[in-house]
Amino acid sequence: MLNELELTGRARTHVVQRDDLAAALQRDTLAAFLAMKRAAESEGFGIEIVSSFRDFAAQQAIWDRKYRGERPLYDAHGNVRKHATLTAAELIDAIVCWSAVPGGSRHHWGTEIDVIDRAAVPEGYRVRLLPEETRPGGIFHRLHQWLDGNMARFGFFRPYCTFRGGVLPEPWHLSYAPVSTGALRALTLEIFEEAVRASSILGRSIVLQRVGDLYERYVANVDAPEFPGRQSG
Ligand SMILES: [Zn+2]
Repeated sequence: MLNELELTGRARTHVVQRDDLAAALQRDTLAAFLAMKRAAESEGFGIEIVSSFRDFAAQQAIWDRKYRGERPLYDAHGNVRKHATLTAAELIDAIVCWSAVPGGSRHHWGTEIDVIDRAAVPEGYRVRLLPEETRPGGIFHRLHQWLDGNMARFGFFRPYCTFRGGVLPEPWHLSYAPVSTGALRALTLEIFEEAVRASSILGRSIVLQRVGDLYERYVANVDAPEFPGRQSG
C-alpha cells in the first residue's frame, strides 16, 4: 500500500525508473505493463508510454505555468481561454479540465500510463493525445480495440473513459487496478488537502477554499474497473 507521501507524489520510493521505457512505474504495474506490451507486440502493436509517474514538483510546474499564462489554457470544449480575462477562480476551473491539482494526480501513484501505438504513427505525425486518435478512423483505434479485449487480463482499465463532469475523457490513460483501486481509497480528502496546504502551488488559497469540491469532482469521480466476475470499488 502506498503511503501519504507516495500517494501525493512527494516521494518516489514506490517507483522503478526504466530508461529503456522512458518511464518510472510502481513495481507491480511495471511487471504487468511489460507482460501486456509483449502480448501486444506479438500482434504487431508497439505500445509506448508517453507519460507515467509524475511527482508533485513536475505536476506543480505544469500547474504554475498554466496559472501564470505561460502555457495555453483551454475550456472543456478545447477553445482557448484568454488568460488576462480570467479571475483566479475561473483560471483554476480552466486548468483542472486538463491538468490535475498537484497532489491529486493519479500519475503520482506510478500505476498510471498514457499509451500510444508507436507502430501506427506515420512519419512526421505529431501525436496529440486526443480522443479522435482512439476512435474509428483514428491512428490508435486498432490498439484501443485490442486494449478493449485484452487489457483487463493484465489488470488495466480506463479511469477516464466517460465524462462524469470532472476530468475530460482520456481513453489513452490506463490504470493498473490491483494497486490503483487501493490508492484511490487511501487518498482521502484530508491527505489531498494536507499536500496542497504544505505546498507553494499558485492559487493555493483558492484551491484550499474549494478543496472538497475539487476532490469530489476531479479525484474521486472516476470510472471503476469492470473486470468480469470481480467486484472492485
Ligand atoms: Zn494520463
